[in-house]
Amino acid sequence: MDYNRFFADQILALKKEGRYRVFIDLARQAGAFPQATWHDAGRKNDVVVWCSNDYLGMGQNPVVIAAMEDALHKVGAGSGGTRNISGTTHYHVELEHELADWHGKEAALLFTSGYTANEAALSTLAGLLPGCVIFSDELNHASMIAGIRASKAQKKIFRHNDVEHLEQLLRETDPDAPKLIAFESVYSMDGDVAPIKEICDLAEKYNALTYLDEVHAVGMYGARGAGVAERDGQMHRVSMIEGTLGKAVGVMGGYIAASGVLVDVVRSFASSFIFTTSLSPVLAAGALASIRHLKVHNELRVRHQERANKLKSMMKAVSLPVMPSVTHIVPLLVGNAPCCKRASDMLLQEFGIYVQPINYPTVPRGTERLRFTPSPLHTDQMMKDLVGVLAHVWSVHDIQKYAAA
Ligand SMILES: *Cc1c(COP(=O)(O)O)cnc(C)c1O
Repeated sequence: MDYNRFFADQILALKKEGRYRVFIDLARQAGAFPQATWHDAGRKNDVVVWCSNDYLGMGQNPVVIAAMEDALHKVGAGSGGTRNISGTTHYHVELEHELADWHGKEAALLFTSGYTANEAALSTLAGLLPGCVIFSDELNHASMIAGIRASKAQKKIFRHNDVEHLEQLLRETDPDAPKLIAFESVYSMDGDVAPIKEICDLAEKYNALTYLDEVHAVGMYGARGAGVAERDGQMHRVSMIEGTLGKAVGVMGGYIAASGVLVDVVRSFASSFIFTTSLSPVLAAGALASIRHLKVHNELRVRHQERANKLKSMMKAVSLPVMPSVTHIVPLLVGNAPCCKRASDMLLQEFGIYVQPINYPTVPRGTERLRFTPSPLHTDQMMKDLVGVLAHVWSVHDIQKYAAA
C-alpha cells in the first residue's frame, strides 16, 4: 500500500470538488473591530472581517481584556491540571455559578470547548440510560452527532424544526423507553430558530428529556442574553442547555447548565470532562467578565439586531439572494462550491472584504453560500461598501439573483 499516494488522492478529490479548505492568516486589530490584517505570502493587507462568530466584538471589549490581564498576573497562565487534580481554580467555580444563574439552573459545568460539552453530555446522558432513544433534529451540529454516536443509543432523526414529524416518531416509540430530544435554538447556517415551546410541550407529553444547544444564541437573545429559551420564556422547561464561551462571549470554552443531578452525572462519568486539563483560569476570568457585562447591556443586543436587519434590507434592495433568516445571521445563496470560493477570493483579494465560503458538508450541496455576521461595530459605511462590491461580484461571476432564482 502506498499510504502517501492514498491520502494525497483524498485531498485531490476535495480540490477537484472546489471544497478544499484554505485558512486565511489574520491578525485581528484589538480596538478596531472588525478590522484585521491579512498576512498573504509576506504581504500585509487591511481587511474588514464579515464572518466572525465573535458576534458582539466581546473578544476585544476592554472589560474582558482587563479581567484576563488581571487573572494572568494573579494566578498565571495555565490551570495546571485536570479539574480533579488541582485544576479547579476559583475562577472556574465563580464562572460555573455565573452560568447556572444566567440560565436559571441549579448548576453548570465547564468544558474546554462547546464541541466537547456536546460530545461529553450527550454521550453520558444517553449512554447511561438503558434503552434510551434519542430524537435528533436533522440539522444538528457535528458535535451533537458525535455525542449521540458515542452514546450507542438508538437515534431517530426528525425533519428540521418539524414538530409534527417529531411527534410521529415519539408516538411510534415504546412509551416506557427513556427519551431525549436534542436540538439547537439558532441554526447558524440558515439563521432560523427552533420552536422551543412546542418541543418542550411534546417532551412533557411523552416524558422526554430536552437537550438544547444555544451556542449561536447565548449573549444575543433574551433580556439578560441567556439565549432564545430565555427570550421565549422556556428556559425552566429545558432539561439541559449547552453553550459556548467562544462565540458571542468572545473567549473560549463550553458548558452545560441543568439541574444539580444532571450536571453531577456528566461531571462524574464523562471521560472528555474528566481526563483533560481544565480551561486556563485566564479564559475563565475573561468569560466571567464578559457574561457579567452581557447580562446588563441589552443595548448591545438591540444594536446587533438593528445591524443585521439593516444589512438584510440593503442586500434585498439590490436583489442579492438573502436566505430567509430571522436572526443576526445573514446568509447569501451562491449555490455551487467553485463559484462560492471564487466570489470569496475576489472579495478578499480585490476589495479587502473577508467572508469565508460555506460549502458541503457544513451545508447541503447546491446551497453553498457566503455567511455574513454583522456586529454592533460594523458601520453604515462598511455596509454600503460591502453591498456595492457584492453587486459587482455577483455580476462579474454571473451568480443568480432573486429574479433568476
Ligand atoms: C461552534 C458550535 C459548537 C462548538 O462550540 P465550540 O465552543 O466552538 O467548540 C457547538 N454547537 C454549534 C451549533 C456550533 O455552531
